[in-house]
Amino acid sequence: MSSDSGSTARLVLLGPPGAGKGTQAARLAERLGVPAISTGDIFRANIKGGTELGRTAQEYTARGELVPDEVTNAMVRDRLAQPDAAQGFLLDGYPRNTAQVGELDAILGADGRALDAALEITADADVVVERLLKRAEIEGRADDTEPVIRRRLDVYAEQTAPVSGLYAERDLLVRVDGIGEVDEVTDRLLAALASQVG
Ligand code: AMP
Repeated sequence: MSSDSGSTARLVLLGPPGAGKGTQAARLAERLGVPAISTGDIFRANIKGGTELGRTAQEYTARGELVPDEVTNAMVRDRLAQPDAAQGFLLDGYPRNTAQVGELDAILGADGRALDAALEITADADVVVERLLKRAEIEGRADDTEPVIRRRLDVYAEQTAPVSGLYAERDLLVRVDGIGEVDEVTDRLLAALASQVG
């Protein structure tokens, strides 16, 4: 890991909806001993709990749009201030646009922290749509209907895809093929991470 951070793992996981981020985030986080922090999961928990944050988030998540940055950033700032994130974390679903990249830098930089790597799971559009439609049948997620899936993929292409480029410029980006068995993809991610952070 970075030379000033001992055995920390401060990571973000990128990739299109349906690439398997949630599944892989849970597995990687367990292996690395850090919390997996999914902004989508936090929004869903708040929607379910009927909180004010949940009511705001639902207006956007239901349409496949990004929740406004000021809402999302404040939530991530609070979550990363929790003691369990002090030695590392794996962010799943954040940052999702270039402004959030800057905000994450500011949140971490304020107490001398920095990212160790950005892992990107790649998968083509046809595969992800098929996976998401299958997940819709199993989990019944409100935003897994075909029109909302299409919108989420467009939002990804327009707003989230540029995030990878920013991390590539900093030599933090590691890309891993997300097609294959779940275990295989986890092994690829761990191997890629080991080669990135040394
Ligand atoms: P996910 O579970 O990551 O697919 O996220 C589900 C939905 O939550 C997204 O379609 C967005 O509406 C919202 N969301 C999750 N993460 C973010 C984020 N970083 N910024 C804005 N909206 C987000």
